[in-house]
Amino acid sequence: MYADIIIGLSSRQLDKTFQYRVPAGMEKDLYPGCVVNVPFGRGARQEKGYVVSFSHEPAIDPALIKDISGIELGKMPAQGRMIGIAAWMRDRYGGTLGRCIKTVMPVNESVRKKEKKTLVVSPEKEKVEGYLERMKKKNAKARVRLLEAVIAAGSLDYDTARKECGITSKTVAELEMSGVINVESNISFRNPAAYKKSDDKHLHRIGLNAAQQKVVDTVVTDFSSGIRLTYLLHGVTGSGKTLCYIEIIDAVVKSGKQAIVLIPEIALTMQTVSRFRERFGDRVSIMNSRMSKGERHDQFIRAANGDIDVMIGPRSALFTPFDELGIIVIDEEHEESYKSENVPKYHARDVAVYMAGKENASIVLGSATPSLESYYRAINGEYRLLSLKDRAAGQSMPEVYIEDMRQELRAGNKQIFSRKLMTAIKKRLQAGEQTMLFINKRGFAGFISCRSCGHVFKCPHCDISKTYHKNNNKLICHYCGHEEEMPGVCPVCGSPYIASLRAGTQQIEEKVKKLFPEAVTLRMDRDTTSGKEGHTKVLAEFSGGNADILIGTQMIVKGHDFPNVTLVAAIMADMSLNTGDYKATERTFQLLAQAAGRAGRGSKPGEMFIQTYMPEAYSLTYAAKHDYEGFYREEMGFRRMMCYPPVWNMLIVQFLNRDAEMLKKAIDSLSLAVQSPKGVLFDGGSQAGDVQILGPSKDGIYKLDDEYRFVMYIKGEKDEDISGFKKKIEKFVSSDPLFSQIIVQFDRA
Ligand code: ADP
Ligand code: ZN
Ligand code: ZN
Repeated sequence: MYADIIIGLSSRQLDKTFQYRVPAGMEKDLYPGCVVNVPFGRGARQEKGYVVSFSHEPAIDPALIKDISGIELGKMPAQGRMIGIAAWMRDRYGGTLGRCIKTVMPVNESVRKKEKKTLVVSPEKEKVEGYLERMKKKNAKARVRLLEAVIAAGSLDYDTARKECGITSKTVAELEMSGVINVESNISFRNPAAYKKSDDKHLHRIGLNAAQQKVVDTVVTDFSSGIRLTYLLHGVTGSGKTLCYIEIIDAVVKSGKQAIVLIPEIALTMQTVSRFRERFGDRVSIMNSRMSKGERHDQFIRAANGDIDVMIGPRSALFTPFDELGIIVIDEEHEESYKSENVPKYHARDVAVYMAGKENASIVLGSATPSLESYYRAINGEYRLLSLKDRAAGQSMPEVYIEDMRQELRAGNKQIFSRKLMTAIKKRLQAGEQTMLFINKRGFAGFISCRSCGHVFKCPHCDISKTYHKNNNKLICHYCGHEEEMPGVCPVCGSPYIASLRAGTQQIEEKVKKLFPEAVTLRMDRDTTSGKEGHTKVLAEFSGGNADILIGTQMIVKGHDFPNVTLVAAIMADMSLNTGDYKATERTFQLLAQAAGRAGRGSKPGEMFIQTYMPEAYSLTYAAKHDYEGFYREEMGFRRMMCYPPVWNMLIVQFLNRDAEMLKKAIDSLSLAVQSPKGVLFDGGSQAGDVQILGPSKDGIYKLDDEYRFVMYIKGEKDEDISGFKKKIEKFVSSDPLFSQIIVQFDRA
């Protein structure tokens, strides 16, 4: 047996592995990430390396392959653990090893610490004086100048000293070598979640209610008796899941272990973070995408140094190198933002479950609307299901009304709001309560077309309809940013009747202002949240009571807790139902159920309106009844019938190139291999019967950012079949010269 080993972690070498022979008897002690000693280079000097993967075939002449010398004993260092995870990610999601390693840890040269050095005079007075005398006699002017300056000041900043005394670093080094000065370096790591003691004066701890106590007890009892599991906490909106996380983590931290808490970036508000700070003070840190690389690196160092116990952040916080990870919590585990859009296209939830297994940690997935994957596993007993069926302080769930917009039109109402919704908004304005109006905008929404001939304005680079932006009268492509002036007439038929068929947030705001001139409105979308703290600012204004109505895309209804909101409305619920994705129904249900959860969280009861042209769609009706289980059963029927995940597993392979011709030739070669059952893709046993293959065919978006795209979907009952087929494709494309310039990306759906 052979092992592929990575030596040295400089970013240039991350993709380079070296093959070594595994001496007999050593296999059982080797695993990805484990640290070994190997002979390396000309002089065969001993170097440390990390095992990445194993193979049975030698890549070069076996006579030239050297043996692994030995295994480093003792606790595996954090780097080794991270490399083990990177190796697993490479295997599951594809991409190069280097990209995977860079995803899980900061690589040596990518982050250079700004070091602050200070020169301090040695406390040995006689020595210093003697040295100064000798240097004066030798007429060593630079050394005398520097030493006298340091003596006079006691301590001196390194850079200032060099500039003001006009000396080189060599002079500093000489004084240091002679022992008359010390060079002290203090690298400071800022805590972005710095805790202000004065914050907590008026705080009192909320006690757990009985249902919460049961959840906490279950996990903590397991934990303290050494049982490590994956728990799915299914708790309705407002059931107090956060308090459960805090109590559980408290017990874990008290046992000397650490915790990682993942929350969607959008919910990473001060509101959430301060709940953790109230309990864990300075031992909590946060990470977010607005931080610089250096700041994020600092947080990893603080974790590795044992300065913190709890790390809160979006998916990248998962890779915090804690010494003794005890628990991972993933709040709103159904959120799409846990999936990376860049290679490797990993899902933080799946990586977390794997990681928890490796590090002997527990993991709690929490949601009011669990992903079908997680609920399926919980029902099958793979995860342990915990539930909170009621809201924490006994509030009732909001009343939800489905508004049939076809009937509104028939009744002569041409507004974008139903008559009942308008009355409800009016009532809130009079009562001084707040309203949220949102559109579940995804992908193709807001496009401009000609009402006379049907011509749709598309981006020349992306083949995607563009969105109209009223503030600068431009058509903008949201994928690549391409802009053009809004034309006055249709370029095809010359008709002046060109307009957006579906409303955007701006139009909704205008309608609201016209219908309710007394209302103070706030809008939250890409245009109003561009700054560094963009959406935090809008949310803070709304939560501070500075507006009556908040209008926005789905991001306004995710995870926030505004007690004065008693009315929530989905203006066009259908917009997310027809996106051509097998998860569209699930996402629509989740969004509507979560949105309903924003209403009536305080002392006053809430209401929700769902406006639609398809009032019978079950994603709508179950959301209106707050019936997750009902939705789950119905949707699983569909998934089962179609062999979609979570019943089967699915792999997506994308093939990209700027040259359509070249791509087409490569795809033709692949199609041939796929169609012939005896072809290359099916050698070595596994027949096509194990997997279902769709494509390769043109992607739904054929051209994006000037690249052409083909896609292939592979479904398999067993995950091994999918992984096996992935390896075959990797082998096929690496051996077919037609693919030498084609980018191949894998994705799990
Ligand atoms: P979830 O995340 O489950 O939607 P949160 O954790 O945001 O719910 O809690 C909802 C609200 O209920 C918060 O304002 C929280 O302070 C409050 N809450 C939580 N637990 C309790 C409790 N045991 N008693 C009273 N209020 C509680
Ligand atoms: Zn036209
Ligand atoms: Zn574009």
